[in-house]
Amino acid sequence: MDNREYSYSQAFKQIAKTANTSLPLKKVLNSIARSTAKALKSSGCTIMLLSPQKEHLDIIAAYGLSDLYLRKGALNAHKSLREVLDGKIVAIFDATQDERVQYPEAADTEKISSVLAAPLLQKGEIVGQVRIYTEEPRCFSQADKDFLATVANIIAIAMEKTELHQVLIAEHEETVTKRRKLADTPQLPSSSLRPSSFGHPSEEEFAKLLDFYRIEWLYEPRSFPLAWHNDKVMEMFTPDFYLPELDLYIELTTLKQSLITEKNRKLRRLRELYPEVNIKLLNKSDYLRLLAKYGYGRLGGTKVEGIDRVLFSHTQIQRRVRALAKRISQDYAERQLVLVGILKGVVCFMSDLMQHITLPLTIDFMAISYYGTDNESAVKITKDLDTSIAGLDVIMVEDIVDTGMTLNYVLNHLASHNPRSLHVCTLLDKRARRLINVPLDYIGFEVPDEFVVGYGLDYHGEYRNLPFIGALTPELIEKEHKK
Ligand code: 5GP
Repeated sequence: MDNREYSYSQAFKQIAKTANTSLPLKKVLNSIARSTAKALKSSGCTIMLLSPQKEHLDIIAAYGLSDLYLRKGALNAHKSLREVLDGKIVAIFDATQDERVQYPEAADTEKISSVLAAPLLQKGEIVGQVRIYTEEPRCFSQADKDFLATVANIIAIAMEKTELHQVLIAEHEETVTKRRKLADTPQLPSSSLRPSSFGHPSEEEFAKLLDFYRIEWLYEPRSFPLAWHNDKVMEMFTPDFYLPELDLYIELTTLKQSLITEKNRKLRRLRELYPEVNIKLLNKSDYLRLLAKYGYGRLGGTKVEGIDRVLFSHTQIQRRVRALAKRISQDYAERQLVLVGILKGVVCFMSDLMQHITLPLTIDFMAISYYGTDNESAVKITKDLDTSIAGLDVIMVEDIVDTGMTLNYVLNHLASHNPRSLHVCTLLDKRARRLINVPLDYIGFEVPDEFVVGYGLDYHGEYRNLPFIGALTPELIEKEHKK
């Protein structure tokens, strides 16, 4: 028996034993997820149930994955590894690129490379699936697939045996109904657990501030048991907020010393019992400072003056820039890449993008100015390239493409210098205002027809240093036009 076979047989022993205990089903499944992930030397495992209408998959047990990944959104059974619905075992080599994966960006952030999924069958019908995830890209062997298929069978038997399956389905139906109701009302993505009322006005104020900065939040999503007597929980602690992007729990407090002392005691206990949990006790000035530390807002103020709302948070931008850089790195392997940017709006984007491209490259900048009247304005190059791009592979990096006039002019100029290839990467695409159809090869985000600032983009030289992209208050621009 080789090592792998030995580890599989040990895991089967453990999994079968767990399945045969009288523990609650959820505990059994979480334990099976853990043993399965370990036996397959993978970084995580999930067990999912299919909705009665076979539309959604809900994660009912998991091991090794972050809260952020587990809450990434509803899994559509037809978009997410749909062949598993036909009873097949599906192996994905690169989850960040494979079209069968519904959330490739989430997989990228979670550092998931390969996925192996097997169907859960009950009385010949598919009721769910079990998946394992690896950080390193992996070609799964037949032994890996057989192992997971057998684990799936044990899970199915465990669910049948405890008869809790019916209970889970009922719970699941309730979640699906809740989710549908929420999906019908347009809200910020953070609001899936929006409470009908808050325990304290400061909590509501904090939630509004998080909404403004588009930081995802969950209100009181988890209670941590802190003390037991004869297996009965005697004390619990429920932090006010969880911020999935920062993987951080927040407990708000007023300045009343007696409350702070009690909360500090509970937090100390929580940290002892749950060392993996990141939690902070904050009063108002603390949380403004915390937001400033993570790049949101300025100290002392609650919102940035002149900004109507945040369109893309710092985290969203970073995630998207990383994904663009990854695609460029794949597309330009073995090529002589030059990134050309137009000053000054592109500085933040260029700086982040080039740091995530994993290829040798050079950069160059141009500067332009606009002259003439509103009706007849023209573009003039005030700073040309420093080095020749002849025979090189050029990517023109733009902050925003609006009418397309600037880009069209600059592309014609660059093409006349005979690069080997010429493509465009823009962070923002204001498609609604396009007059000239310029080809855009890499696009960060589409933006509405509004004036946006931040992350390098300015309004009369200001706002470039905001770490997010926001829409300017319309009154500010209107006032300008009335002058
Ligand atoms: P286009 O020639 O495509 O109409 O305009 C492109 C240039 O206009 C951009 O490089 C940028 O300098 C400016 N621009 C267009 N829309 C916006 C916007 O919403 N915000 C900012 N800050 N600049 C914009």
